[in-house]
Amino acid sequence: MASISDLTTKESPTWCMGCGDFSILSAIKNAISQLNIEPHNVLISSGIGCGSKTPHFIKTYGFEGLHGRSLPVATGFKLSNHKMKVIAVAGDGDTYGIGGNHFIHTMRRNIDMTLIVQNNAIYGLTKGQTSPTSQKGFKSNSTPSGVLEEAVNPISTALTWGATFIARGFAFDVAHLVSVVKEAISHRGFSLVDVFQPCVTYNRINTMEWYKQRVYDLTKENHDSTNWFAAMEKALEWGDRIPIGVFYKTQKPTYEDGLPQIKDKALVEQDISNVDIRPLLKKYM
Ligand code: SF4
Repeated sequence: MASISDLTTKESPTWCMGCGDFSILSAIKNAISQLNIEPHNVLISSGIGCGSKTPHFIKTYGFEGLHGRSLPVATGFKLSNHKMKVIAVAGDGDTYGIGGNHFIHTMRRNIDMTLIVQNNAIYGLTKGQTSPTSQKGFKSNSTPSGVLEEAVNPISTALTWGATFIARGFAFDVAHLVSVVKEAISHRGFSLVDVFQPCVTYNRINTMEWYKQRVYDLTKENHDSTNWFAAMEKALEWGDRIPIGVFYKTQKPTYEDGLPQIKDKALVEQDISNVDIRPLLKKYM
């Protein structure tokens, strides 16, 4: 079993003191360690953002890609070696804005991977612009008079687009977050963990205290996570009470299950030295 120190690189985060990214990083490392997954069997991909530095701080395979592209990169890795655990980490702007297209289509394909969204309802790295999860009326550097449009609801969106495991965590309830992330990584199929993560520098509304006063654990209210309609009802709950925990989980064949090319061996294990690709190249050039 890899210990937390086995999973820790020599690089140190430069996140602001009090940023929720620290807790999410800790939760991912604890989940990998407690699930007894060997680090060389894990790949973590990210996009661009404060939290997207995460792969630098965990001693697994890692790839920091382009803004909004953590999921296509993760998909490529998963299909080239589907035996690996693939985790994508990305912010709310990265996932629900710039990468929104990838978000919905990766869910409907049910690719076996976990997406952890560091959702602080703002673009932090680029100095505090409104993001897709900023609430209506929210004032920021890019919307000084307040946001006009409604915020994206990641949980109801995921339910609509067919994700097979949908959960929400809170960065300052680390024990709960570790347990949700562990369940997500163990799930076979696409799993989403949207994490409330205060940005102490640019979001003065959705603070740690703001969340602490509102979040409650679904498991304490006997929520049936196998019931899609019950999950949707909880997904729409917002205001004085906001649920965290597992909203929905189900089992369906994954995208990889439908690929005969990788039924016996991962792509990376296949010998392609005798494959002549010239006819294929000729067809498209
Ligand atoms: Fe965290 Fe916000 Fe600082 Fe970025 S700007 S490191 S999200 S607190």
